[in-house]
Order: sequence, then structure tokens, then C-alpha cells
Amino acid sequence: MVTTTRTLSIVKPDAVRRSLIGNIFNRFEQAGLNIIATNMIHMTQEQAKQFYIIHKDRPFYNELVTFMSSGPVVVSVLEGPNAVKMNRDLMGATNPSEAQAGTIRHDLSESIGENSVHGSDSDENAATEIRFFFPDLA
Ligand code: UDP
Ligand code: MG
Repeated sequence: MVTTTRTLSIVKPDAVRRSLIGNIFNRFEQAGLNIIATNMIHMTQEQAKQFYIIHKDRPFYNELVTFMSSGPVVVSVLEGPNAVKMNRDLMGATNPSEAQAGTIRHDLSESIGENSVHGSDSDENAATEIRFFFPDLA
């Protein structure tokens, strides 16, 4: 069943630096995902550590935290039919070299670390991640 749900998106520092915010937002809107809240922020190391706490034991954790706090990012709430899956499909595989043609990561990203976008991976994590950045969103 298709229901209207929400997911959290982040346009990562590599994509903001390369002026790709509009390109990425356009893909969301063309696909039928509405941007219902958005904010440009520069995460502190502490915020990035907290946001990615589920990865704290992974070998790439420190590098990820340093990268995500290296410049401004655009955090957004996307709403639409099966938003989590739709956004993950638009993003493509974590490693751009494995991502399908037409996906954000295939088309725009330069490496597995600097892969341009974050997207929640489940409805439960989406709710947690949306609360993290948009505590006042109804
Ligand atoms: N990452 C990395 N090296 C890896 C795996 C992941 O640098 O081998 C980074 C990458 O930026 C990725 C993020 O850590 O987007 C979170 O990893 P996850 O497995 O959750 O991938 P995603 O859900 O972003 O596709
Ligand atoms: Mg993930």
C-alpha cells in the first residue's frame, strides 16, 4: 500500500560546495516529493557525531563526522508516497561507482565518503532524524 510519509534528506557539504542544491531539489520535486521544511546549517563536530551515532563503531566514522561538519549542508523534510524508499531510489547506492545511471550519486558524486546526499533508511529512523533537525515540525 502506498501511504504519504516523510523522510529526512541532507544535501552534503560536497554538493553544496559544487552548487548542486537546485539540481538535487529539482529531482525531489520532479519525482513527486514535496519539500515541506528546509534549512541550511553548518553542523558542529558534536552534532555530526550525534547524528551518525549508529555508525560510531564503523571504521569510517571519524572521517564521516569531519566531512559532514566541513561546510554548510541543507537539511530537508521530504513528504510523498513512500518517501523513504522514493528518496533512497533517487539517491542510488552508497558507493557512486555502484549506483545506477540517473541516480543522484551516480550522476553527481565523487566518492563513497563524499556522496552528496543522506536519506533516512526506514520510517522509524526518519522520525528520529526529522526530530533531530526539526523538533518543532508538527
Ligand atoms: N561511508 C563511508 N565509507 C563507507 C560507507 C559509508 O565513508 O564504506 C559514509 C558515506 O558518506 C555514507 C555514510 O557513511 O553515506 C553513511 O553510511 P551508510 O551505510 O548509512 O550509507 P547511506 O545510508 O548513506 O547510503
Ligand atoms: Mg544510512
